[in-house]
Amino acid sequence: MKTLIIFLAALLVIGSSVCPGQPAEQLSARQEETAISRAGFSSPEPKLPAAESLQRQNTIPVLMYHHLTDNPVLDGDLCPGVFEEQLEFLAREGYQTITPDYLYRFIRGEKQPEQPKVLITFDDGYESFYNKAVPLLEKYDFEATLFIYTDRIKDREGYLSASDLQELARRGISVQSHGVTHTPLTEISENHPPEDSEQKIKAELGKSKELLENITGSPVNHFAFPYGSFNSEIILSAREAGYDLLFIADERETQAPFIVPRIPIQRDMDKENFRDIFR
Ligand SMILES: [Zn+2]
Repeated sequence: MKTLIIFLAALLVIGSSVCPGQPAEQLSARQEETAISRAGFSSPEPKLPAAESLQRQNTIPVLMYHHLTDNPVLDGDLCPGVFEEQLEFLAREGYQTITPDYLYRFIRGEKQPEQPKVLITFDDGYESFYNKAVPLLEKYDFEATLFIYTDRIKDREGYLSASDLQELARRGISVQSHGVTHTPLTEISENHPPEDSEQKIKAELGKSKELLENITGSPVNHFAFPYGSFNSEIILSAREAGYDLLFIADERETQAPFIVPRIPIQRDMDKENFRDIFR
């Protein structure tokens, strides 16, 4: 295990970079932890329950961001300047941002957008959303959605606090659930006997929803699977817990319209790759 950690850390250091005009940064504990947990996990192809009577597959692009930083190290890290270029492009092309509630109504066939739409999402509750993303979103009059795992709210350093979330919700940011512990839900079902795993998965889905609703005073109806990991039982549990849309972490299309693919926006994505999403 130790060798694997050193190997992964070395890989990340080699792969790290800085935004124009910024000093280099060492790999932090956060980055090691995230890289190791990401490296150890891959999502299997799930069997899906039959689709409910939803009208259509989503054709509105859903972008998945994580962390804005001047020293991008992980794949999900992005320079604030690159993020601004992307927003500028969307504004120039006439895109309007939407909420997950709008997307749900669109998939149900209740919305017929006249202008091109895009859904901007940020996972994991990094403080950089508040400090770096929100000023840029407000500059372009765009909205965004946060997927928060609730254990991280207690852990203030570098992450959004409960009062940040309250304020962001007041400013029109949609705050939705990403579980309690950020454990891949399939890992819970693999590592525990069925009765235990069912309870644990229910807690990930239900407690996070309840806590976020208490913090923001707004409904939490949508869930993003940690690491995009799910199977058919997990989907049923998530629907039972009251979630409408279930977001994954890649562009894979599924037969169920309420399972929403997302496009990961990564630090190695150049301008052309980004623009290709909207062609
Ligand atoms: Zn996450």
